[in-house]
Amino acid sequence: MQWWNITSFLILSLYLMLTNTPSMRKLLFVLSFVVSFSGFAQAPDKPTASEIYESIKQLNFLGSVLYIAAHPDDENTALISYFANEVHARTAYISLTRGDGGQNLIGPELNELLGVIRTQELLQARKQDGGIQYFSRAVDFGYSKNPTETFEFWDKEELLRDLVYRIRAFQPDIIINRFDHRTSGTTHGHHTASAILGVEAFDLAADPEVFKEQLTAVAPWQAKRLFFNDSWFFYGSPEAFNKVDQSEKFEMDIGSFYPSLGLSNNEISALSRSAHSSQGFGSSGSRGEKMEYLEPIRGGMPNKHVFEGIDTSWSRIEGGTPVGRVLAKVEEEYDFRNPAASIPDLLKAYKLIKNIEDSHWKKIKTKEIIGVIEACAGLYLEAVAESPTAVAGGQTKMNIEAINRSYYPIHLESVAIGNTKLDMNTTLDNNISHQESINLQIPINQKPTNAYWLDEPGSLGMYKVANEALSGLAETPPAFTAEFKLNFDGEPITINKPVVYRYTDLAKGELYEPFVIVPKASVAVEGKVHVFGDANSKVIRVRVKSFTEDLKADLKLDVPHDWKVSPKNHKVQFAQKGATQYYEFLVYPPAEQSEVIATPELVIGDEVLNKQIHELSYAHIPAQKVLLPGASKLVHIDIERMGYRIGYIQGAGDEVGDYLKQIGYQVEELTTSDISLGKLKKYDAVVLGIRAFNVLEPLQYKNDILFQYVQEGGNMVVQYNVNRSQLVTEAVAPFPLSISRNRVTDEDSEVRFIDENHPVLNYPNKITQKDFEGWVQERGLYFPNQWDAAFTPILSMHDKGEEPVEGSLLIAQYGKGYYVYTGLSFFRELPAGVPGAYQLFANLLSIGKTVSDE
Ligand SMILES: [Zn+2]
Repeated sequence: MQWWNITSFLILSLYLMLTNTPSMRKLLFVLSFVVSFSGFAQAPDKPTASEIYESIKQLNFLGSVLYIAAHPDDENTALISYFANEVHARTAYISLTRGDGGQNLIGPELNELLGVIRTQELLQARKQDGGIQYFSRAVDFGYSKNPTETFEFWDKEELLRDLVYRIRAFQPDIIINRFDHRTSGTTHGHHTASAILGVEAFDLAADPEVFKEQLTAVAPWQAKRLFFNDSWFFYGSPEAFNKVDQSEKFEMDIGSFYPSLGLSNNEISALSRSAHSSQGFGSSGSRGEKMEYLEPIRGGMPNKHVFEGIDTSWSRIEGGTPVGRVLAKVEEEYDFRNPAASIPDLLKAYKLIKNIEDSHWKKIKTKEIIGVIEACAGLYLEAVAESPTAVAGGQTKMNIEAINRSYYPIHLESVAIGNTKLDMNTTLDNNISHQESINLQIPINQKPTNAYWLDEPGSLGMYKVANEALSGLAETPPAFTAEFKLNFDGEPITINKPVVYRYTDLAKGELYEPFVIVPKASVAVEGKVHVFGDANSKVIRVRVKSFTEDLKADLKLDVPHDWKVSPKNHKVQFAQKGATQYYEFLVYPPAEQSEVIATPELVIGDEVLNKQIHELSYAHIPAQKVLLPGASKLVHIDIERMGYRIGYIQGAGDEVGDYLKQIGYQVEELTTSDISLGKLKKYDAVVLGIRAFNVLEPLQYKNDILFQYVQEGGNMVVQYNVNRSQLVTEAVAPFPLSISRNRVTDEDSEVRFIDENHPVLNYPNKITQKDFEGWVQERGLYFPNQWDAAFTPILSMHDKGEEPVEGSLLIAQYGKGYYVYTGLSFFRELPAGVPGAYQLFANLLSIGKTVSDE
């Protein structure tokens, strides 16, 4: 069996694919647990007889668990898998953020685009472990030291609103916090903040006076228990954890083996964990006992199991007992060789559920049971678009297939997509495929499909979600669904399927993608930031990709009036869909220092397009098309520089060298094998990229050559490295220097000049407080905390409530040259076009120099 088949066990899903109500249609995409990896991400569910049996067991469990943490990867996938697969509980993970602020190990995407990738990775993880995924509007804005700092960016009231809504809508019996709400300062501030929100929301969700506006859609909900999921990693090691008294914690062995899946719970957990490819969290499964520890925070300590005292049977709901009786029989008599034999009893249960007073569980179980009936019948229903994209006002052919692989009499009455309906009126006989097509006219006012939380600009800490109905869902519902109206021997049942795009790749076989609506073209200024270091004009290119045939338009580059652009517009013409063309504009900065936004505008009649369609294509997640502004920042900085030729030695990877080029430096990338005195001598300065002393092994013996270069008159600038244990050598400088974990994470924190007359603050650019305005994400990180007397500290800074630190920028004269060590985040500030950061960096490169040398 191929590995992706092994992973494709969870039928839990199926029921979620089949759904009637608009609200669940929204969830459909979110909750579609269909199996898959590697291009199968959108593929339809094809459950086995064993998987169907597991889903029947789930039909008979009415209980739920909500797990709360801050980031993609915080969640305990083993515990989620245990509750979903062993207990058969409805199990969800709410990750407050989408992990936008992290690093990307598999591609260039950062920030919003990384958030989209991680969202999809979490959905893949949930397909593996059987959970459901939710989010809040919180942005992963970067590191914070404690929850107080976190809540300066996260709007606590609004996040409580999100979490309370989720609790009221999901109605968990059990809530589990990944983190401890009492441990401020010992972990990422986001972590503790997520736990604080979890505790408060547990209580607030039950209070009808809180967030009253939600009560038209959801009712107050009191969960029974709240736990903190303790773990050895909060103690440093399993040994340290074992030394602590665990008697106040509920202990459970979650090391189950699932014969019908052929996997242990920990093997499933590893598959789920391995979905986090962008974080490099590939993980190997294990077998056997695995203990988990839950500390009761609310609701007291259970004796035997966490659902103790909660009725999780059908008797839980009024009118449920007879349903439970029928479904117990279905479970008892299930025939693995002939699942279709269960259909009559399943339909009996379905009818009973229909008559239950409307309630939370009625909706959930209706969907589940329709999924089970569909699976038992071997029913295969799909709607495939002939193209992965379409534009508003366009037309797309949709191919429909319906087939029943059982002898149970099923009648297909009609199929509808959007407002196009096809009457089928045909009986689906065993194993006879019915195929039809629909020409779908896309409405002229159809909105493009986009990650809903990126439609409008939010703040640093919060996404803005205009469509409240979507808020908290993992992703935007599919652009179109196909509604199959069926009749099971007199019982009408409607099944919805997302419209997908399917194609055959000669190397990989059958592949699926979401079918999405896009603007007629993608338009984007090349390069996110353009820095003008003098008054000269620059050529700026705009990239246009057509998503429709026969596109005729005018392209402009809109800038504020003190900037000049030539030409005023380009005539744009495309015959073919999918083609890309580049257009050049000559841009002139104003005389003064200036920061502006340049927006490309593609004018098609009275329609103006200004967004870039980012096409994300990775094998482990469904293809994503994300719309973000195609604009770019233009910065004119008054900058003086001494020295001209720079040698740049990349460490872990940054764009500092590229941006120095933009202000007129001649930057040459050097590898460690280029480090010889002869070669270095031609450079006015040598700059080491971030973490060079962490990742470049040869620096343990090439460092002396660099120091000798300084001694003979060169300038050397070393950017941040992480501390001691991971350095390739402790000799990162010609004088003793010890790197600490000191960091200043507030990008607006006050900066004090230790000696304002120091040349580096005056020459050739005068540095003032203003130059520390507009910084992004942080001031800097891993500042040295001890240094030789040869170093002069230049700046003093601190986060709120902390002691000032002076190690952010240290300068030492060594022989005839200068050595600079700086943990200031130039690698973030230069790509963001922060003028003050450019001026300060130019001063670092200029120390001791008197000619610009061009
Ligand atoms: Zn985290």
